[in-house]
Amino acid sequence: MKKIFTILGAGILLHSSVYAQAPVHYNRCGMQMYHNELIAQDPSWAEKFAAQRNSLQAAADYYMELKRSGDLERTSTTVSAVPIIFHILVDSAQFNALGGTAGIIKRCDSQIAVLNRDYNMQNPDSGKIPSNWKALWGNVGVHFGLARVDPSGNCSPGYEVKIISGSTTTDGGFSSINSVKSPSTGLAAWDVSKYYNVWCTNFLGSLNGLLGITQPKSDGATSTKMGVVILYNTLGCTAQNGAVPAGTGTWPTPYNLGRTLTHETGHFFEIWHPWGDDGGKCPTWSSTATIAADSTGLVSGEDPGTACTSGLGSDDGLSDTPPESDNVYGNPHYTIAGGTTHDCCEMNSGTNTQPIGIACLSYMDYTDDDAMYLFTTMQAAAMASMVLVPPSSGTGATGYGTIGENYNLTQNPSLLIPCSTTGVTPSPTELKSSLSIYPNPTTGEVNISINSAEETLNEIIVINMLGQQVKTVKGNNVDYYSIDLSEMSKGIYFVKCNFASGSVTRKILLQ
Ligand SMILES: [Zn+2]
Repeated sequence: MKKIFTILGAGILLHSSVYAQAPVHYNRCGMQMYHNELIAQDPSWAEKFAAQRNSLQAAADYYMELKRSGDLERTSTTVSAVPIIFHILVDSAQFNALGGTAGIIKRCDSQIAVLNRDYNMQNPDSGKIPSNWKALWGNVGVHFGLARVDPSGNCSPGYEVKIISGSTTTDGGFSSINSVKSPSTGLAAWDVSKYYNVWCTNFLGSLNGLLGITQPKSDGATSTKMGVVILYNTLGCTAQNGAVPAGTGTWPTPYNLGRTLTHETGHFFEIWHPWGDDGGKCPTWSSTATIAADSTGLVSGEDPGTACTSGLGSDDGLSDTPPESDNVYGNPHYTIAGGTTHDCCEMNSGTNTQPIGIACLSYMDYTDDDAMYLFTTMQAAAMASMVLVPPSSGTGATGYGTIGENYNLTQNPSLLIPCSTTGVTPSPTELKSSLSIYPNPTTGEVNISINSAEETLNEIIVINMLGQQVKTVKGNNVDYYSIDLSEMSKGIYFVKCNFASGSVTRKILLQ
C-alpha cells in the first residue's frame, strides 16, 4: 500500500491517498519513526532491531513448548497482574476535558478493563473476528492492575497528575519525550522493574497528531525512560463496546476504545507491526510484487495491478502474520465472506501468500479502535514469553533474545492492593528475614515457618493473581502458621507476611 502522509498545519496526519473524503486519522504509532531516528543517530541499531525481530519466533516457540508440556509453574507467571502507574501530564483545560479527578479515575479503571479483556481474549467485539481468523486468535494471558502502592510504600490511586502550563513537548522530535519523563518538567518513572509506566500527555510540535510511542527494553530504554507515552485523551474507553466502567469526556474519534494502549503495550512486550516497518516492501521476495487482477477484498485504495515498493522487505518475525506491505488505516471491516483483506504482497510467483488476508484486524496494525479485535497466536506467545521465568544460562537462554525481560513486573502483587484494605502500609523493601513456606506446590495446606524470632509478624495475607486479597491471618507471636487453601481455585498465589519492619512475599502453586 502506498503511503502518503501529509502533515497539515494543525499537525494532524492525513492518510491522503485513501481517505481524501474520509475522517482525518491520527498517526497511530511513533515506533517506526522512532526506530528510524535511532538508526540515523547510530546505524548499528538497524542490526540490533533485525536481530531482536528475528528472535521473536524462537521466543514464541519456547513459550508454546512450555505450554504444550504443561509446565504450569513457569508459564502461569504470565497471568500475574502487572501494576500500572498512569503519569498524567496535562494543562488545566485538558484536565477539565478529562472530567477532572473523577473523570480520570473512570478513565484509568476503564483502561485497565480494556487491557485485561484484550490480553485475555475477553473483548466483547470478538464476534467481528472472521471465521478464517478464529483459529489464529491468541491469548497473551497477562493481566493488569492499578499500582496501589508507590515506590516509597505510600498509598497510590494508580495515577498521578501534574498540571502544566504550555507544553513539555513543543521542541518537537523524539528527544522531547524525555521532558515528559523528566522529574523537573514532567513526571519521573517509577521503578521500571516493578511498575509498567504509562505517561498520558499532549503531543505537540513535530509529534502533533501522534497517538502513542513506546520505549521497550530492546530500544535501550533506561530506568528513567522505559514505558509508553499515549495521547492523554485516548486514555480509557467510552461506554461503547460494553465498557464497564465507561470513562467520561471526549476522545479523538475513532480512537475511543482504549486500544491506543493495547497497541503500544504490544510494543512494550517487544512485538512489531505486522508489516515489519519496511516502508511498503514485501518480506519474502525482492522483485516488485503486484496485486492479482482478480483480487477481491483489497485494502481501500489498492487497485489490481498496483505494485508494492520494490526491494526485499522485512516482516514482524512471526510465522502466523501473513506478508503485508504496509500499515492499514480506517476500518476494512473484512466484508468478504470468511474475511480476507489483501494488499500488494498478495501474489508471489503465482502463489497467494495471503489466503486469509492480512493481519490488519490485529491490535498491532493502524486501523481504528473498532476495527481491531485480536492478537494472533504467535503475537500472543511472543509477548507471553517476555513474562516467563527468565531462562537460566545453559537451559535455553542462548538465542532466545528477550525472553523473561518483563518477568519482574508480574512478581509484586502486593503493589496492587489498595492500602486501605490491608490496614498496613506495605513496604516495597523485602526483608531478608528467613522464612519457609511449604509444601510448594501444595494441594491445600500451606505451612509457614518463621526462623527469625526477633521479627514481629502482624499478619499473613494470601493474594491471588489479580492482586486480590483472598485470605488474612493475624500474627499471634508464634513462629509457625498453617493456612488451608483447599477451597480455592487452583493456580498461583502469593503469600505475603507483613512484619513490623517490612514484608516478605513468596509465590506458591496450588494444584
Ligand atoms: Zn505501533
